Amino acid sequence: METATRETLPLWIGGRPVAARTTRHGDVTNPATGAVIRRVPLANAEDVDAAVRAATAAFAEWRTWPALRRARILMRFRELLEANKAGLARVVTEEHGKTLADAAGSISRGIEVVEFATGIPHLIKGEFSDSVGSDVDSWSLRQPVGVCAGITPFNFPAMVPLWMFPIALACGNTFILKPSERDPSLALRMAELLAEAGLPEGVFNVVHGDKEAVDAILAHPGIRAVSFVGSTPIAKYIYETGARHGKRVQALGGAKNHAVVLPDADLRHAASTIIGAAYGSAGERCMAVSAVVAVGDAGDALVAELATQARRIAVGPGDAPGIEMGPVITAAARDRIMGLIERGIGEGATLVVDGRKPNVRGHEHGFFVGPTLLDHVTPAMSVYREEIFGPVLVVTRADALADAIALINANPYANGTAIFTRSGHAARRFQQDVEVGMIGINVPIPVPMAFFSFGGWKNSLFGDLHVHGMDGVRFYTRGKAVTARWPDDGSAAPGFHMPTLG
Ligand code: NAD
Repeated sequence: METATRETLPLWIGGRPVAARTTRHGDVTNPATGAVIRRVPLANAEDVDAAVRAATAAFAEWRTWPALRRARILMRFRELLEANKAGLARVVTEEHGKTLADAAGSISRGIEVVEFATGIPHLIKGEFSDSVGSDVDSWSLRQPVGVCAGITPFNFPAMVPLWMFPIALACGNTFILKPSERDPSLALRMAELLAEAGLPEGVFNVVHGDKEAVDAILAHPGIRAVSFVGSTPIAKYIYETGARHGKRVQALGGAKNHAVVLPDADLRHAASTIIGAAYGSAGERCMAVSAVVAVGDAGDALVAELATQARRIAVGPGDAPGIEMGPVITAAARDRIMGLIERGIGEGATLVVDGRKPNVRGHEHGFFVGPTLLDHVTPAMSVYREEIFGPVLVVTRADALADAIALINANPYANGTAIFTRSGHAARRFQQDVEVGMIGINVPIPVPMAFFSFGGWKNSLFGDLHVHGMDGVRFYTRGKAVTARWPDDGSAAPGFHMPTLG
């Protein structure tokens, strides 16, 4: 396809698509074919400022709407997401590469956050105490923070933004979404559906871009809060830079999620669920299992079962029937993953399943990496230390549960982890002692439901509050306490001491 005929995506500002002012653009690729399918503008500070002005103007009225009226817009948005799910999933698959079923599943998980947000009128209720002093009443309320921004990664172009903006909007904020420039179209589709649901113009805006747009967001005095999800180095940068500019920031980073398999576990069940968790979405999930810790004599039987199942995975374009694993996002990602596999072999890991030469007929230019399994990996190896973010599972061995817990606690990432066992005692000890934000017990990807909060510890999250659930409500609101007296005669003597009861 020639450049001239390729669609250039608009930004979405003030309730409508608008052409970006920037002259910089990026290519959006279909990872299954390698073809460039559209162009994305890489917004500059002027574009970001236009979005902030629209969001600031809209905030003045949106914050005054009754919370239930705001929630009703989200109820309509929820219906539209549901009705359009298949089409939205096709866009996710086209730009990201994951299978259609996986894409639809990620949209369903996002819809659950919208459902949670429709209940926010109940969750932002304050507390009231009468007669905290003589004729004095006191109450608390939670108010929106203002214009909020979300900066999101490529791997969940629908679900991760949906972790953020439904809650921010329901709490009375306005929002600017800066989606990943690798798969930017979903953000625009969601903006259209919000408009169709009746959202007033300027309440939700989309600015595409890269570091230039992100830096403009971080420095803009009109933006009060920033939610970020992406890799650890950028999360740390966002947290530090946003805080320096006086913003409230939550920045979720990368991961290296361990699945611990004890010898008493049902090994077939453990292997089957770990296979899905390791290779689903080509391993491009922040909750993907990327390291297995086989305890005691679980190792050999487990690796044999994992290998059998990994070899059976159907690899191909995500929109083809029967495909279980699609391509990775870019040629650069593919080459990086291939390089890490080479390094792992060079450093002494045993290559059990080799995904370096995937054969996807008719898609020779797609960015495919086959399922890869490396055994006898040690913590010193780069395949263990680095977040691979691809379909590569590494297996390491530990003598006892205590060693497995120590290994996990020594890792700088701490997003999710899982244990497979039939022992309630071992499971309890694991969930008590492991220093990780989300724990699975015989559940490989323990992504909390929308009414719980999602987030890791250590280098997997910078900030104090996790996303969605009550942490989301707290992040997108500020507390206020009111103390009131209504004297009926106007008589009051000046008081020079600290007010006390009475
Ligand atoms: P990324 O950090 O490269 O990009 C994330 C966002 O930051 C994008 O919007 C991008 O445009 C922007 N960005 C990139 N480089 C930047 C820079 N130098 N300065 C400012 N902004 C920049 O991440 P990605 O590759 O899109 O996503 C994959 C990563 O996200 C993985 O590390 C994965 O673990 C992580 N992730 C974490 C979670 C979580 O909940 N903790 C969820 C999903 C993904």
